[in-house]
Amino acid sequence: MIEVTAIPAFRDNYIWALSNEHGEVVVVDPGEAQPVAEHIDQRGQRLVGILVTHHHPDHVGGVTALASRGDVPVWGPARERVPGRTVALTEGDQVTIEALDGLTLDVLDVPGHTAGHIAFYGGGMLLAGDALFAGGCGRLFEGTPAQMRASLAKLRELPPETQLYCGHEYTQANLTFAMAVEPDNEALRERYDRVAEWRAEGRYTLPSTLATELATNPFLRWDQPAVQANAATHAGNAASSPDDVFAIVRSWKDSF
Ligand SMILES: [Zn+2]
Repeated sequence: MIEVTAIPAFRDNYIWALSNEHGEVVVVDPGEAQPVAEHIDQRGQRLVGILVTHHHPDHVGGVTALASRGDVPVWGPARERVPGRTVALTEGDQVTIEALDGLTLDVLDVPGHTAGHIAFYGGGMLLAGDALFAGGCGRLFEGTPAQMRASLAKLRELPPETQLYCGHEYTQANLTFAMAVEPDNEALRERYDRVAEWRAEGRYTLPSTLATELATNPFLRWDQPAVQANAATHAGNAASSPDDVFAIVRSWKDSF
């Protein structure tokens, strides 16, 4: 049985910890070493691996210090510079973590936020880094809208019950923007209210599910007539292709 726990870091990052009942733990995107070390030591756990989705400092800053705690493999994207990486991954590769009941994760290339960003899918989980957020998606620092849309189109095909674990607590701000894009989306309105309650209580909004994202995340909904129409209105011209719709919604969010 694998337990997934959030280790908060910086202002709004989550470092996900996947652990078994024997106290062996794998962490995802440790941008800082200290909160991870504290989390593990307090529980008497042992670090047995590090998964990395992309090269940004708030996702890799703690890798070297944590890896030095033992014989800790560091799985990361082949196309990015990741300190201490021991296994370079690209789409089609699989990571099997023997300590976690042989959990097998498929590697997906999801460029857009960064050029070599990868995601991990397996055991009913999607470890999405900064590609797909709850209610949003990553900023396009190193990719085009078409690249990012293709990446998200891939994630959209995963089973709807998939649990989404992403790198930041951005959900409430994302949904505020989503309401501007789709003010008449009833599922979105309900989610917005629910998330506002959770945040008022100081609760995490993650994990989400892909089903929830499909119904409410404007960055997965480029083929919805309401999204197309409101994107066109916002841009002042008809958005003709899915890539156009996605590009308008992405730049709209950037200036929101
Ligand atoms: Zn990032």
